[in-house]
Amino acid sequence: MPKTSSSKTTSSSRTTPSSKTTSRSRRPFRVGRSKTGLGLFATKLIRKGSFIVRYTGRMLPNRIADELDTKYLFEVNARWTVDGSSRKNIARYVNHSCRPNAEADVKKRKILITAIKTIHPGDEITYNYGRDYFNAFIKEHGCKCAACHQKKFVVRSKHKRSRKPKSRRRPKS
Ligand SMILES: [Zn+2]
Repeated sequence: MPKTSSSKTTSSSRTTPSSKTTSRSRRPFRVGRSKTGLGLFATKLIRKGSFIVRYTGRMLPNRIADELDTKYLFEVNARWTVDGSSRKNIARYVNHSCRPNAEADVKKRKILITAIKTIHPGDEITYNYGRDYFNAFIKEHGCKCAACHQKKFVVRSKHKRSRKPKSRRRPKS
């Protein structure tokens, strides 16, 4: 006999005042440990093209921002820069990648970080910081993003392989 839905033990649905769902958990990301310190990681599926987080901070004229010694400056146009160094600016935890899954767009002086690929739970969210930043802060120590790390690994393993007798491998197209 098919089970009837007589098991009415679902009386636990009584609304308790403390059962407010935290609105923060609606964010599809969290701050977590990455290879280079802290990073922002997806906790939910983020579809390609969807908005993730806004990069926020004080709006400063570029000539003033140029005097500051912080890595969290984001130039929005020829006149204005956002100083995103406040910890409230959760977007500052998004790390650089040379092969990113998100991008930062400026729309009316607002910096919006949007997915350019589908991002799965657990994936680190990254965008390309651009050449100026790269040359100023990353180049010197070498980029530690996943794409560069992988490249290095491939170079190393190729080197190792060259000591072995040549195996007939099809060249990568
Ligand atoms: Zn890189």
